[in-house]
Amino acid sequence: MAQPVIGLEIHVQAKTKSKMFSPVSAEYFADEPNSHVDPVSLGLPGAMPVPNEEAIRKCIAISLALNCQINQKTKFDRKNYFYPDLPKGYQISQYDYPVGHDGYLEIDVEGDARRIRIRRVHIEEDTGKSIHTDDGTLLDYNKAGVPLIEIVTEPDFQELKEVTAFAKLLKQTVQYVGISDAEMQKGQMRFELNISVRTNEPDGKLPNYKVEVKNIGSISVLEKVLQFEVKRQSEILAKGEKVVAETRGIRDMSGATVSQRLKETEDDYRYFPEPDIPPIYISDEWLAEIRSELPELPAARRDRYVHDWGLELEQAEILVEQRDKGDWIDLLSKDLAAEKLKQAVKWFIGDVSGLMEKKGVSVAELPVSPTDLIFLVESVAENKISGTIVKKVLEEMFESGGRAEEIVKSQGLEQISDSGALEKIVDEVIVNNQKLVDSLAKNPNAINALVGQVMKATKGQANPKLAEQAIRTKLGVS
Ligand code: ADP
Ligand code: MG
Repeated sequence: MAQPVIGLEIHVQAKTKSKMFSPVSAEYFADEPNSHVDPVSLGLPGAMPVPNEEAIRKCIAISLALNCQINQKTKFDRKNYFYPDLPKGYQISQYDYPVGHDGYLEIDVEGDARRIRIRRVHIEEDTGKSIHTDDGTLLDYNKAGVPLIEIVTEPDFQELKEVTAFAKLLKQTVQYVGISDAEMQKGQMRFELNISVRTNEPDGKLPNYKVEVKNIGSISVLEKVLQFEVKRQSEILAKGEKVVAETRGIRDMSGATVSQRLKETEDDYRYFPEPDIPPIYISDEWLAEIRSELPELPAARRDRYVHDWGLELEQAEILVEQRDKGDWIDLLSKDLAAEKLKQAVKWFIGDVSGLMEKKGVSVAELPVSPTDLIFLVESVAENKISGTIVKKVLEEMFESGGRAEEIVKSQGLEQISDSGALEKIVDEVIVNNQKLVDSLAKNPNAINALVGQVMKATKGQANPKLAEQAIRTKLGVS
């Protein structure tokens, strides 16, 4: 079996109002090309960059969430290369003092915890966008200068499952910490895959080459590229040939890669300190403040749901997937005791989520409030309504709004537990089902059929236990 060695470089656009080094709006998605530009993002002569504090704060926050050390003296550097979408001829990035370094993210692969080391986390600026048409290349500089956080891992991955688990958890972590919405279809999170395949290097020694595949915009494409490259490189190595160390790209979603250029080395970039921006000092106070504002992270939340709430792992994972789902369900925990809380989670993951999906409703737009779900769970526990009615009420709330309690009251959906009312119905059922009553002597199970008739007559609103009792009393059967 081919043994791949894999490292990832991930670019995440930090969600900020303005660009990394100028006040022009960074919220450009789907806007008219070149409508978010200014002298700084166009690289006009004499334009001076001013760093965006919010972007640096976000870079510190994600570094801390990834268990990194922080360079409290950090600085910007110029990375020189020519490309039409990089108007200055250099990118402002970070070289020897990245904001974060030497961290890790612990992933879970089928119940097995594995640690992927993070080499560095730094901040830089995004480039513009080249649009290739039949008549030539068009340039849109809206994206140029948008704050970009780059996260670089050590080459610690050995299999596809680890890469997938890491990519998903990193995306969640970025969203939890509020760095970015990390919507990949909008290009807010992009992957670069570094990959080589082992032949007979001794343990602890890496293959002496690597291939880099740039600009991968989704986790499923990342998986396909990985499979493609392992196969391609293994076949070359099996023939006793050498794999060219190069940068490759993708043309479509198939995962196939094509050669783009030979790998540039660090020297080619002629890194040097950015002379227009003085070094930045991150004070102890600022660091402590950012650390104290970090939310509970996905793994900790998942463990809390399993260990403290007693949820199944799969249930916990569904709730953790999106931060706002967990935030929502957390609102119930102070009002509901363990068993009821579990019941609430079941309704939330089942019927509520099903309706959300069907109607295309997000957690923020949810027509069911925590109070509504608490009311429904309590009502079922007190035998006031049945599970069938809960489904009906939830559907009604998604359909026409309103509070759960009002719907139950106004539509008279409470179970009939009033013995007078119930007795009247039981009398009618007995009169109308004489055959069933007669068969009781031979077949005691006929009692269930009679209860069924009572439920039918009340459209599901009778309390089945009370109905059975009433029938038994009337007919004198124990
Ligand atoms: P470069 O300077 O050429 O970009 P780096 O050593 O900085 O190379 O590493 C860049 C990325 O490549 C990192 O994510 C690292 O984990 C990964 N990497 C390094 N060596 C290998 C290798 N032999 N195979 C696969 N990935 C590697
Ligand atoms: Mg690189």
